[in-house]
Amino acid sequence: MDNCIFCKIIAGEIPSTKIYEDEHLIAFLDITQTTKGHTLVVPKKHTRNLLAMAPEEASQLFAKIPEIGNKLVNSFGAKGMNILQNNEETAGQTVFHTHVHLIPRYAEDDGFH
Ligand code: 5GP
Ligand code: ZN
Repeated sequence: MDNCIFCKIIAGEIPSTKIYEDEHLIAFLDITQTTKGHTLVVPKKHTRNLLAMAPEEASQLFAKIPEIGNKLVNSFGAKGMNILQNNEETAGQTVFHTHVHLIPRYAEDDGFH
C-alpha cells in the first residue's frame, strides 16, 4: 500500500533489522527499543489492524508468535515478555499496518508496565 512505512520495510525500500521472515510475515526490531530486543511481528499483506483481518490471516500471524518470541528470549537472554497489539488511534496505534509488539523483559528493567 502506498505511503505505508511497514509495506516499504517489507518491500526492502526502508532498512530494518530482521529477526524472522517467511512467505507470510516478517519480524524486525522496533526503531524505539522499549527494552532490548523489542520486535514487531508484521503480516506481509497490508491490513489496517487486527480488527480488519480475516480469521485465517490472524491465525497465521499468531501461530508464529511462540517461535519468534522464544527466538528473542534465547538471543537476548530475556526472562519474560510482554506481547501487545494496538488497534486504532484511540488505543495507541500509530502505524496503520497490523503488527504485534514483542517486548522482552529482564530482571529490573524499566520497560513497559
Ligand atoms: P503502534 O503504536 O502503532 O502500536 O506501534 C508502531 C511502532 O512502530 C512504534 O513502536 C514505532 O517505534 C515503530 N516504528 C515506526 N516507524 C518505524 C520504522 O520506520 N522502523 C521500525 N523498525 N519501527 C518503526
Ligand atoms: Zn502496509
